[in-house]
Amino acid sequence: MNPLLDQPFSTPFQTPPFSKFSTADFKPAIEKAIEEAKEEIKAIVDNTASPSFENTIEALTLSGEKLDRITSIFFNLNSAETNKEIQKTAQEVSPLLSEFSNDIVLNENLFSRIKSVYDHKESFNLNEEQQELLRKTFRRFTRNGANLSEEDKTTLREIDKKLSKLSLQFGENVLAETNDYQLHITNQADLAGLPDYAMDMAQQEAEKRGLEGWVFTLHMPSYLAFQKFADQRELREKLYKASGAKAFQDNERNNENIIKEIVSLRYQRAQLLGYKTHADFVLEERMAKSPQKVLDFLNDLLEQSIEFAKKDIQSLAEYAEKTDGIKELMPWDHAYYAEKVKKEQFDLSDEELKPYFELNAVLQGAFSIAQRLYDISFVPNQQIETYHPDVKVFEVKDSSNETIGIFYTDFFPREGKRAGAWMTNYRNGSKMNGVHKIPQISIVCNFTQPTKDKPSLLTFNELTTLFHEFGHALHGLLANTQYEALAGTQVSWDFVELPSQFMENYCYEPEALALFAKHYETGEVIPQALIDKIIAAAQFLEGYQMSRQISFGKLDMAWHAVEISDIEDVDAYEVKAFEGTQVYPKVEGTNMSTAFSHIFQGGYSSGYYSYKWAEVLDADAFDYFKQNGIFDKATADKFKTLLSSGGTVDPMVLYKNFRGREPQQDALLKRVGIKS
Ligand SMILES: [Zn+2]
Repeated sequence: MNPLLDQPFSTPFQTPPFSKFSTADFKPAIEKAIEEAKEEIKAIVDNTASPSFENTIEALTLSGEKLDRITSIFFNLNSAETNKEIQKTAQEVSPLLSEFSNDIVLNENLFSRIKSVYDHKESFNLNEEQQELLRKTFRRFTRNGANLSEEDKTTLREIDKKLSKLSLQFGENVLAETNDYQLHITNQADLAGLPDYAMDMAQQEAEKRGLEGWVFTLHMPSYLAFQKFADQRELREKLYKASGAKAFQDNERNNENIIKEIVSLRYQRAQLLGYKTHADFVLEERMAKSPQKVLDFLNDLLEQSIEFAKKDIQSLAEYAEKTDGIKELMPWDHAYYAEKVKKEQFDLSDEELKPYFELNAVLQGAFSIAQRLYDISFVPNQQIETYHPDVKVFEVKDSSNETIGIFYTDFFPREGKRAGAWMTNYRNGSKMNGVHKIPQISIVCNFTQPTKDKPSLLTFNELTTLFHEFGHALHGLLANTQYEALAGTQVSWDFVELPSQFMENYCYEPEALALFAKHYETGEVIPQALIDKIIAAAQFLEGYQMSRQISFGKLDMAWHAVEISDIEDVDAYEVKAFEGTQVYPKVEGTNMSTAFSHIFQGGYSSGYYSYKWAEVLDADAFDYFKQNGIFDKATADKFKTLLSSGGTVDPMVLYKNFRGREPQQDALLKRVGIKS
């Protein structure tokens, strides 16, 4: 038998049996599991008993469990330990999987049973979690048009088709414009100020193009290096203007009309589904709930921070005038002088900090923080199989020594692992009918590797990354929900980064650092002076950063939270949306919207505010701890309830139960140095 289909796995805690299967097993296993899941759904639809919560909503959420197990293993491996064969299989199975999930949402007989349960929900005596599962299931269908007439359904499909084409076109235009431009330098004097690595990069780029000299491009590493270091102001200006003109020039790659079409189609789509605007549609399923709430949030934050943004720029301008006689500071001066001031005032090298952050000590520190907060311990278990010798496995135990979760760590880069850091799962937890299926959670990173004579020493950035992913992991590991579909990190977008960013706060607290930030050779705890320097560096130009993020959030809402009449001029519309947020003069010929891929290509439309929203949440939550003690048990108990509830309760309700009120912005403003 295919070992992937032989479920539940007969391994410790039903963990994935990595040694038993090979890549060739995935495709047939996934095909078979899809068939079985289809049978399960057919059984729901064909049930002759009248629709009930159990025989419809619960049966639907429990269907396809085998498939979920297999696909989670498969896609986790495709990210952490991939190869040509896995990638080929991914190409083959992805269309099958999306077809399967589309078939579910488009299944009219299934929806009519769901609707019947939803319409009679009062008669089923459901607990809070079941009500939420019902609401989310019903919305998943209606938000895809299940409630529409045949004619409207057809219109919706047409809009969706057009939208996906336009988004692709938008992205292709931005990419083509990015690839098309080169700043070709042949005079070495024009490279003044650039560090060796940037010159090497530019020389290689030139060679690749068969050119003499050096080539800088609009791709981030090249662009940023030039903006930060190049002494030649006119060249910085040239490159800045080229970047700002992406997809805003008079050529076939101009995105202005595409933006107008996307915005208008999104508006039509929202109207068709019964929402006032696209933002109303998106935000219904977010903690923020309404466009007005988001706009108030952004405007309040702007009012609090704009003066500081101006002061930030003022001090940079003074520095630029003093050192180089610059009369008016322009956007192409920003990164350059910021880099210079930063070097002068907060010279903090990674090398100075790294000896204090030895990976194993840091991980043990994270574990002991979790122990003090939530009464859980992490015990290594070498019996549990892994997909690579670098992966370590821990049993997570509660205070009565019962195992409540399995935790995998995979820390070092390898060929076959994608870049970055992430938390993922092999199974979310569930507790049904007395059966506790414990969560199996993993974090995957790309940290500095140990060498023969040195252990793995983390940069400060790697340290906060580890705590961030560990925060997501705790969200998953502490899950205490009936249904797997509502467990752990399965919460709304503007809420999911609270647990992770919350944990990062411990990296700046002497009381927490004392637990693990010890010099790997001498054992000396990291000096307070270094911590103070880290904090000061983190606050540098935060007023400016804040106003910039707010301006993007406001631009996003301007495109999506209004009832579109006819937006005539994309650039004029953007200028109006940016009103009150800008600290640099407008540069003619540049435009943000035409290259704003987050909202026109990616999935961030009406969601850009979430970055700041999440920071407000984590700062406000941590501030509560600081008032009561960062290891205070009573406060931690309340936060544990928030974490373990996953998506079973509305996030604003969860937050208010923890904090006693809605989130406020003061703690963030203090943390970044805007308020004292
Ligand atoms: Zn995250």
